[in-house]
Amino acid sequence: MKKYTSLTEIQGRLAQKQLTVPELIAYYFTQIEKNQHLNAFNEVFFDSAKKQAELVQQKVDNGIAGRLAGMVIGIKDNICYIDHQVSASSKMLADFVAPYSATVVSRLLQEDAVIIGRLNCDEFAMGGSNETSYYGPVKNAADEERVAGGSSGGSAVAVQADLCLATLGTDTGGSVRQPAAFCGCIGFKPTYGRISRYGVLAYASSFDQVGTLTSSVSDAALLLAVLSGADDADSTVSTLPVPNYTQNLGAGGTKKIAVLKETIENEALDPEIKSAILASIAKFKSQGHVVEYVSFDLLDYLVPAYYVLTTAEASSNLSRYDGVHYGYRNTQAQSLNELYKTSRAEGFGEEVKRRILLGTFVLSAGYYDAYYQKAQQVRRLIREKVEALFVDYDFLLSPVTPTPAFKIGENIQDALVMYMADIYTVLASLAGIPAVALPLGNNAAGLPLSVQLMAKHFNEQELLNLSHRFLHEV
Ligand code: GLN
Repeated sequence: MKKYTSLTEIQGRLAQKQLTVPELIAYYFTQIEKNQHLNAFNEVFFDSAKKQAELVQQKVDNGIAGRLAGMVIGIKDNICYIDHQVSASSKMLADFVAPYSATVVSRLLQEDAVIIGRLNCDEFAMGGSNETSYYGPVKNAADEERVAGGSSGGSAVAVQADLCLATLGTDTGGSVRQPAAFCGCIGFKPTYGRISRYGVLAYASSFDQVGTLTSSVSDAALLLAVLSGADDADSTVSTLPVPNYTQNLGAGGTKKIAVLKETIENEALDPEIKSAILASIAKFKSQGHVVEYVSFDLLDYLVPAYYVLTTAEASSNLSRYDGVHYGYRNTQAQSLNELYKTSRAEGFGEEVKRRILLGTFVLSAGYYDAYYQKAQQVRRLIREKVEALFVDYDFLLSPVTPTPAFKIGENIQDALVMYMADIYTVLASLAGIPAVALPLGNNAAGLPLSVQLMAKHFNEQELLNLSHRFLHEV
Protein backbone atom coordinates (compact mmCIF):
# COMPACT_ATOMS: atom_id res chain seq x y z
CA MET A 1 0.00 0.00 0.00
CA LYS A 2 1.31 3.47 -0.78
CA LYS A 3 1.52 6.27 1.76
CA TYR A 4 -1.71 8.19 2.02
CA THR A 5 -1.27 11.88 2.65
CA SER A 6 -4.88 13.00 3.04
CA LEU A 7 -8.23 11.67 4.16
CA THR A 8 -9.74 12.79 0.85
CA GLU A 9 -7.58 10.20 -0.93
CA ILE A 10 -8.60 7.47 1.50
CA GLN A 11 -12.29 8.32 1.36
CA GLY A 12 -12.11 8.27 -2.44
CA ARG A 13 -10.77 4.73 -2.36
CA LEU A 14 -13.30 3.64 0.25
CA ALA A 15 -16.10 4.98 -1.95
CA GLN A 16 -14.69 3.12 -4.97
CA LYS A 17 -14.49 -0.06 -2.88
CA GLN A 18 -10.76 -0.29 -3.62
CA LEU A 19 -10.02 -0.24 0.08
CA THR A 20 -11.74 -1.12 3.38
CA VAL A 21 -11.16 0.38 6.81
CA PRO A 22 -10.05 -3.01 8.27
CA GLU A 23 -7.50 -3.30 5.44
CA LEU A 24 -6.26 0.16 6.20
CA ILE A 25 -5.85 -0.51 9.91
CA ALA A 26 -4.04 -3.77 9.13
CA TYR A 27 -1.66 -1.81 6.91
CA TYR A 28 -0.87 0.66 9.69
CA PHE A 29 -0.39 -2.18 12.20
CA THR A 30 2.24 -3.64 9.86
CA GLN A 31 3.90 -0.27 9.48
CA ILE A 32 4.06 0.10 13.27
CA GLU A 33 5.51 -3.38 13.60
CA LYS A 34 8.22 -2.60 11.02
CA ASN A 35 9.12 0.66 12.74
CA GLN A 36 9.01 -0.38 16.38
CA HIS A 37 12.61 0.75 16.85
CA LEU A 38 11.50 4.37 16.34
CA ASN A 39 9.69 4.10 19.69
CA ALA A 40 6.81 6.32 18.57
CA PHE A 41 4.00 4.42 20.29
CA ASN A 42 3.69 3.81 24.01
CA GLU A 43 0.83 1.44 23.21
CA VAL A 44 -1.02 0.29 20.13
CA PHE A 45 -4.75 -0.20 20.73
CA PHE A 46 -4.95 -3.37 18.62
CA ASP A 47 -8.32 -4.58 19.90
CA SER A 48 -10.32 -1.39 20.15
CA ALA A 49 -8.91 -0.05 16.87
CA LYS A 50 -9.77 -3.26 15.03
CA LYS A 51 -13.32 -3.26 16.41
CA GLN A 52 -13.80 0.41 15.57
CA ALA A 53 -12.48 -0.20 12.03
CA GLU A 54 -15.07 -2.92 11.47
CA LEU A 55 -17.83 -0.72 12.83
CA VAL A 56 -16.82 2.19 10.62
CA GLN A 57 -16.70 -0.09 7.57
CA GLN A 58 -20.30 -1.12 8.24
CA LYS A 59 -21.28 2.52 8.39
CA VAL A 60 -19.43 3.20 5.13
CA ASP A 61 -21.29 0.29 3.52
CA ASN A 62 -24.59 1.66 4.78
CA GLY A 63 -23.80 5.21 3.68
CA ILE A 64 -24.05 6.62 7.20
CA ALA A 65 -20.38 7.20 8.03
CA GLY A 66 -19.17 10.35 9.77
CA ARG A 67 -16.77 13.01 8.47
CA LEU A 68 -13.67 11.20 9.71
CA ALA A 69 -14.49 7.76 8.33
CA GLY A 70 -11.21 6.27 7.13
CA MET A 71 -9.06 8.44 9.35
CA VAL A 72 -6.64 6.37 11.40
CA ILE A 73 -5.31 8.66 14.08
CA GLY A 74 -2.90 8.38 17.00
CA ILE A 75 -3.23 10.40 20.19
CA LYS A 76 -0.47 11.79 22.35
CA ASP A 77 -0.19 9.85 25.58
CA ASN A 78 -1.52 12.74 27.67
CA ILE A 79 -5.06 12.58 26.27
CA CYS A 80 -7.64 10.42 28.04
CA TYR A 81 -9.50 7.66 26.19
CA ILE A 82 -11.92 5.83 28.44
CA ASP A 83 -10.77 2.36 29.60
CA HIS A 84 -7.36 2.85 27.93
CA GLN A 85 -4.14 3.59 29.71
CA VAL A 86 -2.77 7.13 29.70
CA SER A 87 0.68 7.77 31.16
CA ALA A 88 2.01 11.21 30.08
CA SER A 89 5.15 9.10 29.51
CA SER A 90 5.72 9.18 33.26
CA LYS A 91 6.44 6.45 35.77
CA MET A 92 3.93 8.33 37.93
CA LEU A 93 1.07 7.19 35.68
CA ALA A 94 2.59 4.04 34.22
CA ASP A 95 -0.43 1.91 35.17
CA PHE A 96 -3.16 4.52 35.11
CA VAL A 97 -6.36 3.83 33.15
CA ALA A 98 -8.45 6.76 31.99
CA PRO A 99 -11.86 6.78 33.69
CA TYR A 100 -13.40 8.95 30.96
CA SER A 101 -12.61 10.27 27.49
CA ALA A 102 -11.30 13.71 26.65
CA THR A 103 -13.74 15.82 24.66
CA VAL A 104 -11.36 15.63 21.68
CA VAL A 105 -11.46 11.84 21.81
CA SER A 106 -15.27 11.74 21.98
CA ARG A 107 -15.44 14.10 19.02
CA LEU A 108 -13.03 12.01 16.95
CA LEU A 109 -15.04 8.86 17.64
CA GLN A 110 -18.37 10.55 16.97
CA GLU A 111 -17.14 11.30 13.46
CA ASP A 112 -15.90 7.72 13.01
CA ALA A 113 -12.15 8.13 13.29
CA VAL A 114 -10.19 5.05 14.40
CA ILE A 115 -7.81 5.72 17.31
CA ILE A 116 -4.83 3.45 16.77
CA GLY A 117 -2.78 4.04 19.90
CA ARG A 118 -1.12 6.41 22.33
CA LEU A 119 2.07 8.15 21.36
CA ASN A 120 5.30 8.69 23.20
CA CYS A 121 6.04 12.22 24.42
CA ASP A 122 8.19 14.09 26.90
CA GLU A 123 7.15 13.39 30.48
CA PHE A 124 4.04 15.47 31.21
CA ALA A 125 4.78 17.27 27.92
CA MET A 126 7.80 18.97 29.47
CA GLY A 127 10.61 19.00 26.98
CA GLY A 128 11.58 19.69 23.42
CA SER A 129 13.23 16.44 22.36
CA ASN A 130 11.14 13.57 23.72
CA GLU A 131 14.17 12.59 25.78
CA THR A 132 12.44 13.15 29.14
CA SER A 133 10.01 10.30 28.45
CA TYR A 134 10.01 7.42 30.94
CA TYR A 135 9.81 5.20 27.85
CA GLY A 136 12.92 6.63 26.23
CA PRO A 137 13.41 8.96 23.25
CA VAL A 138 11.59 8.71 19.94
CA LYS A 139 13.91 8.43 16.95
CA ASN A 140 13.59 10.76 13.99
CA ALA A 141 12.87 8.67 10.90
CA ALA A 142 14.99 11.02 8.76
CA ASP A 143 18.06 10.17 10.87
CA GLU A 144 17.65 7.71 13.70
CA GLU A 145 20.50 9.22 15.68
CA ARG A 146 18.51 12.40 15.97
CA VAL A 147 15.61 13.48 18.14
CA ALA A 148 12.04 13.62 16.93
CA GLY A 149 11.51 16.88 18.77
CA GLY A 150 9.09 17.28 21.58
CA SER A 151 7.14 17.13 23.48
CA SER A 152 4.83 15.48 20.91
CA GLY A 153 7.71 13.48 19.39
CA GLY A 154 5.79 10.24 18.89
CA SER A 155 2.96 12.19 17.25
CA ALA A 156 5.37 13.65 14.71
CA VAL A 157 7.24 10.44 13.87
CA ALA A 158 3.98 8.49 13.52
CA VAL A 159 2.97 10.83 10.67
CA GLN A 160 6.50 11.07 9.25
CA ALA A 161 6.98 7.28 9.13
CA ASP A 162 3.42 6.55 7.92
CA LEU A 163 2.33 4.72 11.09
CA CYS A 164 -1.10 6.39 10.86
CA LEU A 165 -2.60 9.21 8.82
CA ALA A 166 -2.70 11.94 11.45
CA THR A 167 -2.07 12.51 15.13
CA LEU A 168 -3.09 14.74 17.98
CA GLY A 169 -0.48 16.47 20.06
CA THR A 170 -0.60 19.18 22.67
CA ASP A 171 1.21 22.48 22.36
CA THR A 172 2.05 24.53 25.44
CA GLY A 173 5.12 26.27 24.07
CA GLY A 174 5.71 24.58 20.73
CA SER A 175 5.16 20.89 21.34
CA VAL A 176 3.16 20.38 18.16
CA ARG A 177 5.05 22.80 15.91
CA GLN A 178 8.63 21.94 16.87
CA PRO A 179 8.42 18.14 16.41
CA ALA A 180 6.44 18.75 13.20
CA ALA A 181 9.32 20.94 12.02
CA PHE A 182 11.90 18.29 12.92
CA CYS A 183 9.95 15.57 11.11
CA GLY A 184 8.64 17.38 8.05
CA CYS A 185 4.92 17.39 8.93
CA ILE A 186 2.35 20.14 9.23
CA GLY A 187 1.94 21.08 12.88
CA PHE A 188 -1.09 23.22 13.68
CA LYS A 189 -1.72 24.91 17.03
CA PRO A 190 -5.08 26.69 17.23
CA THR A 191 -5.92 29.77 19.28
CA TYR A 192 -5.91 29.14 23.04
CA GLY A 193 -9.50 28.19 23.86
CA ARG A 194 -10.50 27.00 20.40
CA ILE A 195 -10.41 23.32 21.42
CA SER A 196 -11.52 21.82 24.72
CA ARG A 197 -8.83 20.73 27.19
CA TYR A 198 -11.22 18.48 29.11
CA GLY A 199 -9.51 15.14 29.62
CA VAL A 200 -6.08 16.41 28.55
CA LEU A 201 -3.48 16.02 31.30
CA ALA A 202 -2.64 19.56 32.36
CA TYR A 203 0.85 21.04 32.16
CA ALA A 204 0.34 24.83 32.09
CA SER A 205 -3.36 25.51 31.86
CA SER A 206 -3.25 29.04 30.46
CA PHE A 207 -1.06 27.81 27.58
CA ASP A 208 -2.06 24.20 26.84
CA GLN A 209 -3.85 23.61 23.56
CA VAL A 210 -4.52 20.50 21.51
CA GLY A 211 -3.08 20.61 18.01
CA THR A 212 -2.75 18.38 14.97
CA LEU A 213 0.10 16.79 13.01
CA THR A 214 -0.79 15.90 9.44
CA SER A 215 0.61 15.51 5.95
CA SER A 216 -1.96 17.81 4.35
CA VAL A 217 -3.53 21.14 5.21
CA SER A 218 -6.95 19.70 4.36
CA ASP A 219 -6.64 17.12 7.15
CA ALA A 220 -5.58 19.84 9.61
CA ALA A 221 -8.63 21.87 8.57
CA LEU A 222 -11.04 18.96 8.88
CA LEU A 223 -9.72 17.92 12.28
CA LEU A 224 -9.93 21.48 13.51
CA ALA A 225 -13.56 21.66 12.37
CA VAL A 226 -14.38 18.45 14.24
CA LEU A 227 -12.46 19.24 17.44
CA SER A 228 -13.24 22.93 17.93
CA GLY A 229 -16.11 24.58 19.71
CA ALA A 230 -17.84 25.10 23.02
CA ASP A 231 -17.76 22.40 25.65
CA ASP A 232 -19.74 22.42 28.90
CA ALA A 233 -16.86 20.57 30.56
CA ASP A 234 -14.28 23.32 29.86
CA SER A 235 -15.26 26.91 30.54
CA THR A 236 -12.12 28.26 28.83
CA VAL A 237 -13.30 27.09 25.43
CA SER A 238 -14.57 29.83 23.18
CA THR A 239 -18.24 29.84 22.22
CA LEU A 240 -17.44 31.45 18.87
CA PRO A 241 -19.06 29.51 16.03
CA VAL A 242 -16.82 26.97 14.31
CA PRO A 243 -16.36 27.70 10.60
CA ASN A 244 -16.32 24.90 8.10
CA TYR A 245 -12.58 25.23 7.71
CA THR A 246 -12.37 22.88 4.75
CA GLN A 247 -14.69 24.86 2.52
CA ASN A 248 -12.88 27.01 -0.02
CA LEU A 249 -9.55 26.02 1.47
CA GLY A 250 -6.91 28.14 -0.19
CA ALA A 251 -9.26 31.06 -0.88
CA GLY A 252 -8.36 34.64 -0.04
CA GLY A 253 -6.56 37.35 -1.95
CA THR A 254 -3.48 39.34 -1.23
CA LYS A 255 -2.35 39.27 2.38
CA LYS A 256 0.19 41.22 4.38
CA ILE A 257 2.87 39.18 6.10
CA ALA A 258 5.26 40.60 8.70
CA VAL A 259 8.59 38.85 9.00
CA LEU A 260 9.91 39.21 12.54
CA LYS A 261 13.31 40.63 11.69
CA GLU A 262 15.22 39.66 14.82
CA THR A 263 14.22 36.02 14.38
CA ILE A 264 15.78 35.81 10.91
CA GLU A 265 18.73 38.14 11.33
CA ASN A 266 19.97 36.07 14.19
CA GLU A 267 23.39 34.47 14.48
CA ALA A 268 21.90 31.45 16.21
CA LEU A 269 19.74 30.62 13.18
CA ASP A 270 21.00 27.69 11.12
CA PRO A 271 22.04 28.96 7.66
CA GLU A 272 20.10 26.29 5.76
CA ILE A 273 16.93 27.11 7.69
CA LYS A 274 17.55 30.76 6.94
CA SER A 275 17.91 30.24 3.21
CA ALA A 276 14.84 27.96 3.09
CA ILE A 277 12.85 30.67 4.86
CA LEU A 278 14.13 33.36 2.50
CA ALA A 279 13.01 31.15 -0.39
CA SER A 280 9.58 30.75 1.25
CA ILE A 281 9.33 34.53 1.55
CA ALA A 282 10.08 34.82 -2.17
CA LYS A 283 7.31 32.31 -2.86
CA PHE A 284 4.79 34.23 -0.76
CA LYS A 285 5.69 37.34 -2.73
CA SER A 286 5.34 35.53 -6.03
CA GLN A 287 1.85 34.46 -4.91
CA GLY A 288 0.99 38.16 -4.67
CA HIS A 289 1.34 38.72 -0.93
CA VAL A 290 3.02 41.74 0.57
CA VAL A 291 5.91 40.69 2.80
CA GLU A 292 7.68 43.23 5.01
CA TYR A 293 10.29 43.01 7.77
CA VAL A 294 9.24 44.40 11.14
CA SER A 295 11.15 44.69 14.36
CA PHE A 296 10.16 42.59 17.37
CA ASP A 297 12.22 43.91 20.24
CA LEU A 298 10.81 41.64 22.95
CA LEU A 299 12.51 38.51 21.64
CA ASP A 300 14.87 38.20 24.61
CA TYR A 301 11.98 38.18 27.07
CA LEU A 302 10.01 35.35 25.52
CA VAL A 303 11.80 32.32 26.93
CA PRO A 304 12.21 33.71 30.48
CA ALA A 305 8.54 34.78 30.69
CA TYR A 306 7.39 31.45 29.29
CA TYR A 307 9.43 29.36 31.74
CA VAL A 308 8.47 31.40 34.81
CA LEU A 309 4.76 31.17 34.00
CA THR A 310 4.61 27.57 32.80
CA THR A 311 6.66 26.17 35.67
CA ALA A 312 4.44 28.07 38.12
CA GLU A 313 1.33 26.58 36.56
CA ALA A 314 2.96 23.15 36.38
CA SER A 315 3.89 23.19 40.07
CA SER A 316 0.22 23.75 40.86
CA ASN A 317 -1.17 21.28 38.29
CA LEU A 318 1.19 18.47 39.25
CA SER A 319 0.45 18.73 42.97
CA ARG A 320 -2.41 16.29 42.38
CA TYR A 321 0.10 13.48 41.82
CA ASP A 322 0.67 12.79 45.47
CA GLY A 323 0.78 9.00 45.60
CA VAL A 324 -2.71 8.97 47.10
CA HIS A 325 -5.11 10.14 44.43
CA TYR A 326 -3.30 9.02 41.33
CA GLY A 327 -0.68 6.72 40.01
CA TYR A 328 2.59 5.59 41.49
CA ARG A 329 2.77 5.02 45.25
CA ASN A 330 5.68 4.08 47.46
CA THR A 331 4.18 1.32 49.56
CA GLN A 332 7.01 1.26 52.12
CA ALA A 333 6.36 4.77 53.46
CA GLN A 334 5.70 4.98 57.20
CA SER A 335 3.87 8.30 57.37
CA LEU A 336 1.73 10.47 55.13
CA ASN A 337 4.52 12.97 54.64
CA GLU A 338 6.94 10.23 53.71
CA LEU A 339 4.36 8.78 51.32
CA TYR A 340 4.07 12.09 49.48
CA LYS A 341 7.81 12.65 49.40
CA THR A 342 8.91 9.22 48.28
CA SER A 343 6.08 8.72 45.80
CA ARG A 344 6.80 12.04 44.11
CA ALA A 345 10.57 11.64 44.30
CA GLU A 346 10.38 8.19 42.68
CA GLY A 347 7.43 8.78 40.34
CA PHE A 348 8.64 11.94 38.60
CA GLY A 349 11.68 12.25 36.35
CA GLU A 350 14.45 14.86 36.61
CA GLU A 351 13.01 17.49 34.29
CA VAL A 352 9.55 17.39 35.84
CA LYS A 353 11.08 17.76 39.30
CA ARG A 354 13.22 20.67 38.13
CA ARG A 355 10.11 22.44 36.88
CA ILE A 356 8.04 21.78 39.98
CA LEU A 357 10.86 23.19 42.12
CA LEU A 358 11.33 26.22 39.89
CA GLY A 359 7.59 26.86 39.72
CA THR A 360 7.16 26.56 43.47
CA PHE A 361 10.04 28.99 43.91
CA VAL A 362 8.65 31.69 41.61
CA LEU A 363 5.27 31.44 43.33
CA SER A 364 6.62 31.57 46.86
CA ALA A 365 5.99 34.57 49.12
CA GLY A 366 8.91 36.94 48.73
CA TYR A 367 9.62 35.96 45.13
CA TYR A 368 6.10 36.09 43.71
CA ASP A 369 6.27 39.80 42.82
CA ALA A 370 9.78 39.61 41.43
CA TYR A 371 9.19 36.62 39.16
CA TYR A 372 5.63 35.41 38.70
CA GLN A 373 3.90 38.77 38.68
CA LYS A 374 6.64 40.33 36.59
CA ALA A 375 6.37 37.53 34.04
CA GLN A 376 2.62 38.07 33.84
CA GLN A 377 3.23 41.73 33.12
CA VAL A 378 5.75 40.78 30.43
CA ARG A 379 3.18 38.39 28.94
CA ARG A 380 0.73 41.25 28.75
CA LEU A 381 3.29 43.44 26.96
CA ILE A 382 4.06 40.67 24.49
CA ARG A 383 0.40 40.18 23.75
CA GLU A 384 -0.12 43.91 23.21
CA LYS A 385 2.88 44.09 20.91
CA VAL A 386 1.57 41.17 18.87
CA GLU A 387 -1.90 42.70 18.67
CA ALA A 388 -0.37 45.98 17.49
CA LEU A 389 1.40 44.13 14.67
CA PHE A 390 -1.90 42.60 13.62
CA VAL A 391 -3.37 46.07 13.08
CA ASP A 392 -1.14 46.35 10.00
CA TYR A 393 -0.50 42.72 9.07
CA ASP A 394 -2.52 39.56 8.59
CA PHE A 395 0.26 37.12 9.49
CA LEU A 396 3.57 36.98 11.31
CA LEU A 397 6.39 34.83 9.94
CA SER A 398 9.39 33.39 11.78
CA PRO A 399 11.41 30.18 11.95
CA VAL A 400 10.00 27.36 14.06
CA THR A 401 13.37 26.29 15.42
CA PRO A 402 16.92 27.70 15.41
CA THR A 403 18.34 24.38 14.13
CA PRO A 404 17.15 21.20 12.45
CA ALA A 405 16.75 18.07 14.61
CA PHE A 406 19.78 17.68 16.89
CA LYS A 407 21.44 14.45 17.98
CA ILE A 408 19.93 12.34 20.76
CA GLY A 409 21.90 13.18 23.92
CA GLU A 410 23.38 16.37 22.45
CA ASN A 411 21.46 18.94 24.53
CA ILE A 412 19.68 17.03 27.26
CA GLN A 413 22.31 17.71 29.94
CA ASP A 414 21.90 21.46 29.59
CA ALA A 415 18.41 22.68 30.50
CA LEU A 416 19.16 26.23 29.39
CA VAL A 417 20.19 25.15 25.91
CA MET A 418 16.99 23.12 25.65
CA TYR A 419 14.85 26.03 26.87
CA MET A 420 16.48 28.53 24.52
CA ALA A 421 15.62 26.32 21.57
CA ASP A 422 11.95 27.24 22.22
CA ILE A 423 12.61 30.87 21.40
CA TYR A 424 10.50 30.99 18.22
CA THR A 425 7.55 28.88 19.28
CA VAL A 426 6.70 30.37 22.68
CA LEU A 427 5.62 33.70 21.20
CA ALA A 428 2.34 32.28 19.85
CA SER A 429 1.81 30.45 23.15
CA LEU A 430 2.35 33.55 25.29
CA ALA A 431 0.02 35.55 23.04
CA GLY A 432 -2.50 32.70 22.68
CA ILE A 433 -2.61 33.05 18.88
CA PRO A 434 -2.88 30.28 16.28
CA ALA A 435 0.33 29.16 14.58
CA VAL A 436 1.42 26.56 12.08
CA ALA A 437 4.72 24.89 11.18
CA LEU A 438 4.95 24.25 7.44
CA PRO A 439 7.52 21.91 5.88
CA LEU A 440 10.11 23.43 3.51
CA GLY A 441 11.83 20.29 2.28
CA ASN A 442 15.12 18.97 3.59
CA ASN A 443 18.63 20.29 4.13
CA ALA A 444 21.71 18.77 2.49
CA ALA A 445 21.87 16.09 5.19
CA GLY A 446 18.24 15.11 4.55
CA LEU A 447 16.83 16.74 7.68
CA PRO A 448 13.45 18.51 7.43
CA LEU A 449 13.28 22.32 7.46
CA SER A 450 10.29 24.45 8.35
CA VAL A 451 8.73 27.91 8.55
CA GLN A 452 6.19 29.24 11.05
CA LEU A 453 3.17 31.44 10.37
CA MET A 454 1.02 33.00 13.05
CA ALA A 455 -2.36 34.69 12.76
CA LYS A 456 -4.76 36.79 14.84
CA HIS A 457 -6.81 35.16 17.56
CA PHE A 458 -9.41 32.86 16.01
CA ASN A 459 -8.17 33.49 12.49
CA GLU A 460 -7.48 29.81 11.85
CA GLN A 461 -9.41 29.93 8.60
CA GLU A 462 -7.06 32.48 7.03
CA LEU A 463 -4.02 30.67 8.38
CA LEU A 464 -5.18 27.40 6.81
CA ASN A 465 -6.01 29.13 3.54
CA LEU A 466 -2.59 30.74 3.30
CA SER A 467 -0.88 27.47 4.23
CA HIS A 468 -2.86 25.54 1.66
CA ARG A 469 -1.99 27.96 -1.13
CA PHE A 470 1.64 27.96 -0.09
CA LEU A 471 2.07 24.22 0.06
CA HIS A 472 -0.25 23.04 -2.67
CA GLU A 473 -0.10 25.77 -5.35
CA VAL A 474 2.93 26.32 -7.51
N1 GLN B 1 9.60 22.69 24.90
C1 GLN B 1 8.61 23.42 25.61
C2 GLN B 1 8.66 23.07 27.08
O1 GLN B 1 9.43 22.26 27.42
C3 GLN B 1 7.24 23.17 25.04
C4 GLN B 1 6.54 22.02 25.63
C5 GLN B 1 5.11 21.93 25.20
O2 GLN B 1 4.65 22.68 24.35
N2 GLN B 1 4.39 21.03 25.83
O3 GLN B 1 7.93 23.59 27.87
